[in-house]
Amino acid sequence: MGKLGSPQETIAILQKYGFHFQKKYGQNFLIDPRVLDKIIEAAEIGPEDYVLEIGPGIGTMTQALAEQARQVCAVEIDTKLIPILEETLKDYSNVTVVNEDIMKVDIGALAREHNEGRPIKVVANLPYYITTSIIMALFEKEVPLESVTVMVQKEVADRMQVGPGTKDYGALSLAVQYYASPYIVANVPPNCFIPRPAVGSAVIRLTRHEKPPIEVRDPDFMFRIIRASFNQRRKTLQNGLYNSSELQVSKEEVARALAQMGLSPSIRGEKLTLDQFARLADLLQDKEGQETGNPDEGR
Ligand code: SAM
Repeated sequence: MGKLGSPQETIAILQKYGFHFQKKYGQNFLIDPRVLDKIIEAAEIGPEDYVLEIGPGIGTMTQALAEQARQVCAVEIDTKLIPILEETLKDYSNVTVVNEDIMKVDIGALAREHNEGRPIKVVANLPYYITTSIIMALFEKEVPLESVTVMVQKEVADRMQVGPGTKDYGALSLAVQYYASPYIVANVPPNCFIPRPAVGSAVIRLTRHEKPPIEVRDPDFMFRIIRASFNQRRKTLQNGLYNSSELQVSKEEVARALAQMGLSPSIRGEKLTLDQFARLADLLQDKEGQETGNPDEGR
């Protein structure tokens, strides 16, 4: 089996194995070698690198990664793709294929065992149905990570990199920007895949910060505030936080904290920067749960 990447080679191998695409696994295989080159270039893979690929499909990107990296671990959920990967990757002794759901893999253990605990690089054409869960799990589980270079839905890439005051700004933007700096490498149209997805795609590189760009006493508490603010996007921050089941803060506490920060009591969460959410979290944290007044008061 030669190098994959073109539509003809992809179709030939799919026919040889009688492979049927599974929609539930978000299978849209890349068939444009120029896009593949852009991903590999943006990921900056070197001969020392341990790379995790999520969802190798028939192994198109895996081959390209294996040519650059020291070691590649490719995690694929679909058992039907495993015999195909055995064929397409047989010439690459530095690739390990794991037939597993990525959400069940202990990625920290992979980094410890195969990369001496040093940060790994993640590269993938992600299945769109679980993009956000995969990215959040990578960051929140404190996996040693250097960068994540992935194909995602265009709209999701936009959400990851925008700032306050735009319609796409939300909990995902703030979470990604707390952990990493995002950079959109390329927009990719549906005709670069087989089958064609219904939406546009983009390659985004997230380079993990060595240290978060802001200081906050309890990041988990800040993210509870962020989630509560955007769960009730059309409410003012005061009402959104007060009504959240995840928090125990009174309207007055929120109003006082906003005043201390010089912000209007009617401000919405979508206007606050990451730094302002951090300050708000620090101000509210000491107060949480201290109020014992009538819970319906002021609603
Ligand atoms: N990397 C290939 C390419 O670019 O042509 C395939 C990309 S396709 C968008 C997504 C791949 O992820 C599919 O091979 C699919 O079977 C796999 N996948 C879906 N859900 C997964 C999961 N939970 N864990 C691991 N792999 C998954």
